[in-house]
Amino acid sequence: MSASGSVRPGWSLRTKLLAIVFVGAVLPLATLGLWLAQNTRRSAEASLRARLDSTLSRAAQQVGVSWITHRSGLFDLVQDSTLASTLAHGRLLAQPTRLGVAPNGFAALRAATHLIVVRDAAGRAKWVVGADETGAPILLAAGDSLRIGDGTASDGFETNVPVRRGIGGEILGTVDARFRIASLLQGWTGGVAGASAVLAVVDRATGAITAPLPFDASLLRAGRFRWGGDDWLTESRIMDDPSLEIVAAAPLTSFMEPFDRAARTGAIALAVVTVAAFILVILLTRRVTHSLVALAAAADAVAAGDLDRQVEARAGDEVGRLAAAFNLMVDSLRKTLAQLSQRQAVAAVGEFASALAHEIRNPLSALRINLQHVEERLEAQPSLREPVQYALRDIARLESTVAGALRLARTGTMSMGAVILGDVLDAVSRLARTEATRRRVSLDLAATAPMALRGNAAALEQLFLNLLLNAVEATPAGGLVGVTVEPLVGEVCVGVWDTGGGFSPEAWDRAFEPFFTTKQEGTGLGLSVAKRLVTAHGGRITVDSRPGRTTVSVWLPLIEMRTSAVRPATVVKATLGV
Ligand code: ADP
Repeated sequence: MSASGSVRPGWSLRTKLLAIVFVGAVLPLATLGLWLAQNTRRSAEASLRARLDSTLSRAAQQVGVSWITHRSGLFDLVQDSTLASTLAHGRLLAQPTRLGVAPNGFAALRAATHLIVVRDAAGRAKWVVGADETGAPILLAAGDSLRIGDGTASDGFETNVPVRRGIGGEILGTVDARFRIASLLQGWTGGVAGASAVLAVVDRATGAITAPLPFDASLLRAGRFRWGGDDWLTESRIMDDPSLEIVAAAPLTSFMEPFDRAARTGAIALAVVTVAAFILVILLTRRVTHSLVALAAAADAVAAGDLDRQVEARAGDEVGRLAAAFNLMVDSLRKTLAQLSQRQAVAAVGEFASALAHEIRNPLSALRINLQHVEERLEAQPSLREPVQYALRDIARLESTVAGALRLARTGTMSMGAVILGDVLDAVSRLARTEATRRRVSLDLAATAPMALRGNAAALEQLFLNLLLNAVEATPAGGLVGVTVEPLVGEVCVGVWDTGGGFSPEAWDRAFEPFFTTKQEGTGLGLSVAKRLVTAHGGRITVDSRPGRTTVSVWLPLIEMRTSAVRPATVVKATLGV
């Protein structure tokens, strides 16, 4: 079953991230915007109401002051002695009868009223108070049918004051005045909120109103109403003396304009921030999710067997690290699998080589013994003896090759003892010189101080021979190959260098794999055997290669000369892992 087989389909990571941003940022921002807009409207309304309220307070004050002035004018009138005696007589003493009130004081009262009527004690309208050409108050005859307010405008309210015979005396009649409501706000400069705002004074008894309104007066009681495509707010103040109601109304729109503008600016800023945040998140998540999608696709490909699949790991964040780790993991998986199959191949070849060696060694020994007998008998015939000697030399070489193959193929052991490094290197350079001369490559071999190693001389010879032959083969005619020996603390570093073209990129990766070769007649075993031999001697091997200078360095542990030189070679076992 594939790994993806158990994965339930669901939202993609990107959708989830966008949902998180939407729920975590966009939604709260939008809610905040709505709340701000609502709040702005509410506070604008509250502010307008506060202004209407303060207007009403000032208007009530003005009405109160006006009312006191008008009343005092009225009191002056009822205290007029001519008026009292005229009422006592029940008829006008002169036509018209001039009253004693000063023309100046009366002028204000007259301007504030529609009509002033004098009634007798029975409530009959007897006379009207007017003014002569000098503005002085006079009593004029009025018919019985006269009703106060008859023929006058509706914007008035009535009030009456008794006329007494002397102070505290009997009531002779009343003076009824119908005041102009507008007179109460005469000279009003308090202003109302907004150009189209309205301030009205209503007579509570009759519902009469100061001025004609553009809308139905009953709307003023609503607190809020809609008229002329606008929302209006109203506030009112009740007065007991005089019994009036002052109402102020103002349209909300013009007042709201600055608040609305601020709210609009806020909403636009919020929208811009929200959109920018969204775009930013989309861009960021695209990067992350793109990498994760690539990673998931690569993982699927690897699961399907494509071990060459790699992902881009440029970002330095967690996703980048994950991608790098994924690449590393696939790389190591590939190498492990390759090593596994390589090991299996090596093991199979080893088994085959050891079986073959066993099969060859015995007949080869018998062949050698027989030929040695023949050689001994042919002492007198040198011409026949020579080919036999050649055959014997070939057999010796074959025997040594078979022995070497056996030693390497087997997971076996080799005997270890004190070995003088100089001797090993001398033997190796003698062997390599023939090949170097044939290829016209010069050898530059360092003279070595006496140094002892614990190891196997034949194995060490093979190790350095492999390196030296590789160097010679990699160097073009006329080039140089050399060996350096550098004693260090407790170990020695032997460097085999050449002036060839260096390791090819592929060889650089795989040179130590068994059977890897770039040569037509190569076995691909030289470096892998060398590495195993170095490991068996407790050392390490490194390569430094560039065109014109390649050095393969081998570090091997040293033993002290004094003891090793006198002590006979002890044989220890070292494992030669294949
Ligand atoms: P072989 O010599 O049989 O090819 P090795 O294991 O000794 O096997 O070497 C493996 C490969 O490493 C060689 O085929 C060659 O490509 C590369 N190599 C080894 N030594 C050198 C060197 N000194 N310079 C360049 N390439 C080398």
